[in-house]
Amino acid sequence: MYEIDPEKEAIEIENGYKRILKAWKPKKKTKEDVALIRKAFDVAVEAHSKDRRKSGEPFIYHPIAVAEITAQELGLGKTSIVCALLHDVVEDNKNYTLDYIKKEFGETVAKIIEGLTKIDKVSSINGSISPQSETFRKILLAFAYDIRVILIKLADRLHNMRTLEFMPRDKQIKIASETEYIYASLAHRLGYYNIKSELEDLSLKYLEPEVYKMIDDKIQEKKKDYLRFINKFVYPIKHDIAELGLKFEIFARFKSVYSIWKKMSDKKVDFDDIDDLFAIRIVIDSPPALEKFDCWKVYSIVTNYYNPKQDRLRDWISTPKANGYESLHATVMSNTGQWVEVQIRSKRMDEIAENGLAAHWKYKEKSDNVDTRLDQWINQMKNLIENHKIESEEEEDAVEFIDEFKPNLFNDEIFVFTPKGHLRTLPKGASVLDFAYAIHTDIGNHCIGAKINNSLASINEILKNGDQIEILNSKKQYPKESWLEMVITQRAKARIRMAINTMKKEKFDEGKKKVSEWLKELNIEVNDVAFNELLMKSKRHSLSDLFFDVAIGTLNFDDIKSLYKSPEKSRWYSSLPFFGKAKSSGKSLDEIIKDQADIDPTPLLLNSETTNLDYTLCKICNPIPGDDVMAVVSPGREIIIHRTNCPEAIKHMAQFGNRIVKAKWRKEDKTVGFLTRIELKGIDRKGLIAEISTIIGNNFNFNIRTLHIKASEGIFEGKITLYVSDTDALQHLIHELKQVDGIQSVVRVNRR
Ligand code: MN
Repeated sequence: MYEIDPEKEAIEIENGYKRILKAWKPKKKTKEDVALIRKAFDVAVEAHSKDRRKSGEPFIYHPIAVAEITAQELGLGKTSIVCALLHDVVEDNKNYTLDYIKKEFGETVAKIIEGLTKIDKVSSINGSISPQSETFRKILLAFAYDIRVILIKLADRLHNMRTLEFMPRDKQIKIASETEYIYASLAHRLGYYNIKSELEDLSLKYLEPEVYKMIDDKIQEKKKDYLRFINKFVYPIKHDIAELGLKFEIFARFKSVYSIWKKMSDKKVDFDDIDDLFAIRIVIDSPPALEKFDCWKVYSIVTNYYNPKQDRLRDWISTPKANGYESLHATVMSNTGQWVEVQIRSKRMDEIAENGLAAHWKYKEKSDNVDTRLDQWINQMKNLIENHKIESEEEEDAVEFIDEFKPNLFNDEIFVFTPKGHLRTLPKGASVLDFAYAIHTDIGNHCIGAKINNSLASINEILKNGDQIEILNSKKQYPKESWLEMVITQRAKARIRMAINTMKKEKFDEGKKKVSEWLKELNIEVNDVAFNELLMKSKRHSLSDLFFDVAIGTLNFDDIKSLYKSPEKSRWYSSLPFFGKAKSSGKSLDEIIKDQADIDPTPLLLNSETTNLDYTLCKICNPIPGDDVMAVVSPGREIIIHRTNCPEAIKHMAQFGNRIVKAKWRKEDKTVGFLTRIELKGIDRKGLIAEISTIIGNNFNFNIRTLHIKASEGIFEGKITLYVSDTDALQHLIHELKQVDGIQSVVRVNRR
């Protein structure tokens, strides 16, 4: 029970003031600024003199704590500290009006206080809407005011969460779920990772007390073992780093209760299945000019003792994450056979990673002050809102615009970043193309793909929250009808349609001219009837589509020529027994081929020693042992072996339809004598080709026949023909190649 003791409380209040001043770290503490904070402090003490918190403590403890958090943990300046001290004054004491605040503390402070008050007010008026969406709406509203409104609100919430135990259970649940849903995400987005983590843990503690306790207990229980392990693990490293003369600290970073719980529920695993409960962090104290070099020195020491996992090296020092995160991460094998993540970074990087904006300012502020940086940030946020206005292509005032936001914005919108780290919001489900068009119409029109978080992605890849996207362009690319299926934003759809229509207009005459020439060549009189006949045959939607396809080469003379021959051809097709059957049974050609191959009960057995046998392997599909194959017998008794899905087989069927023989590979010796083709795609880097060749030649002992590599705009495309033994080995090789750093896809292909 709290015992009221005015004398003690007066001392505690005064101590609070001292703590705030200590936490406040401006470049220069002027007398005027100190006086301003003192004035705000005194006003707050006076205004709240009669109020007490649920815990029984004087209410003023709360604004003092919020001001302290604002200065210490958020790293904000005097204006924010003043506002934090006054944040509940206008609302709780009718004697203090906004006009009074404006008169005493100026317009900016009054505006921020107004914003803070509004956030609270709207919620009490509007009880019908879900409290969470409502709060978020208000937070967006606050963006229109001043970002400090949100930051102080975050500090306010953090202190309320830290003292939530005194609230009744129903309020605890409401506040905790709102915190998890909104404030933790907000803290994360603002780069306050420590605060985010604390808010998440606190909300879980109140929402799922038993789960929280269970996980927390288990962590404490395991900690001792881990610490013993970690001590052993770092022992040799410590020695060597010290020998280099570097100043450093080594920590063990344990996963938060909340993130363990998240992983357990997302992946449906037990606590004991979580293998990355901790990471080892080595923080070195190096000057900025040397920090990268020194981090790599440490990496070299670590890997002297422990083998690194090849694909787990993350170098966010050379290319920091969009949110500014810098660190070197490696996963190494400990002596006891356990993978351990080691994070290597400088003290500066560590502070930015932990404290986001607060640390940024500390390190980046050389000349300009915190408030200027804040203003820049506010402007960025305002731009974000402005962009949405353009998106909806209507002029509205700010409030109406916010009403337009879907209530559950967090679920329907994703936040992604440009390569320079600028934030863009897109609807959930948006693709690379949507993003490209959101940047610029030309970027969209020429988009050939993207690098998402440095991994190659196709134009229809769906974006995820937090992705950083670099669009890859090619002058040769142009929008296609099929793109309309790949986008969900109206903007992208409209731009694609516009581009296609423009192109069609441009290409109309060009295509028409070509078609006319071709028709003449086919001895067909050129007129509208002929055009329309061709339109029907070509199965295009309109003449402009037809001419367009001709102009860009999708339809060529051979295609057109074959259209005029097709009636004859189809008669011939249907004369084949299986083709007639197919039409009625509705089977695919592939299935028919298989059926047909089954008719002959004695399969042709294929050896791997091709020389002894009287058959040829199809040069298009290149069957290899293990493939489903069939033999097609030509009139000259030549046997050609195809894969059952070979496109070339379709042509052969038309010619030798009823001479299809079932074929099977004999399972025996493994001769590496079968030609096959694979295509690789990925991100180009030094040494990639050497690595691929090594795997094929040394690891698998296959021979490469031809190797074509095309690298442009950072994308690497390789076509390799090689001799392999069978499908199992080929699958194995493909699997191995996919593990190579940078390789995005490896597929077996036919010859084209
Ligand atoms: Mn408050």
